[in-house]
Amino acid sequence: MVKVLVVEDEETLLHNIAEKLRSEGFSVLTANEGESGLQKIKAEVPDLIILDIMLPGLDGLSICRMVRHDINTTHIPIIMLTARGTEVDKIVGLESGADDYIVKPFGLGEFLARVRAVLRRVEGRPVIQQDELVANDLRLNLTGRRVFKGDQEIKLSNKEFDLLTELMRNRSAVLSRDLILTKVWGYDYFVDKRTVDVHIRWLREKIEDDPSSPKRIITVRGVGYRFEG
Ligand code: CA
Repeated sequence: MVKVLVVEDEETLLHNIAEKLRSEGFSVLTANEGESGLQKIKAEVPDLIILDIMLPGLDGLSICRMVRHDINTTHIPIIMLTARGTEVDKIVGLESGADDYIVKPFGLGEFLARVRAVLRRVEGRPVIQQDELVANDLRLNLTGRRVFKGDQEIKLSNKEFDLLTELMRNRSAVLSRDLILTKVWGYDYFVDKRTVDVHIRWLREKIEDDPSSPKRIITVRGVGYRFEG
């Protein structure tokens, strides 16, 4: 049974969402504020998180980032619930790591369709099997830190390898330059955002069939990059 955690402080909405999901056969957990939401994420490791942005205590965007930075939870898809247009900019622009977002108010039918779409997309993501991330003919060995395209080994620098790992782990999700910098170069590392672009270019030259027309690492204008396989 697919386990969904809903973190929402509006009682009626929380109730309605939870009931709708239950009626569709999902196993549902709930939290009505941020701290307990995060605790449940860590304790239960749900299959999907529905996360309101404006929450008492810890806000949704912070929770989202924490989930993405925790190796045990980074794979969990997140759908954010947002009330205002400016919040949408935060989700997309600052890159929280969310898989999708729904602007309130929304119908439960639309909500359910988005839930199913995100779960379907996640099914196609590469899974860690014996320490490997696989996407089409690209194979990345995590412990050996080796990358293969078909039978051919591709030599990557340390940062290129970390960058590719991050991209493959978050297949189909848009990763902003900020998020990539944080994850690949670390919080405290002061580097120019263009560093990301430069490394993406190098990576494309090594893994794309045609680097001038990339099919694996897609540029998301004004935001960052998305790995497509
Ligand atoms: Ca709220």
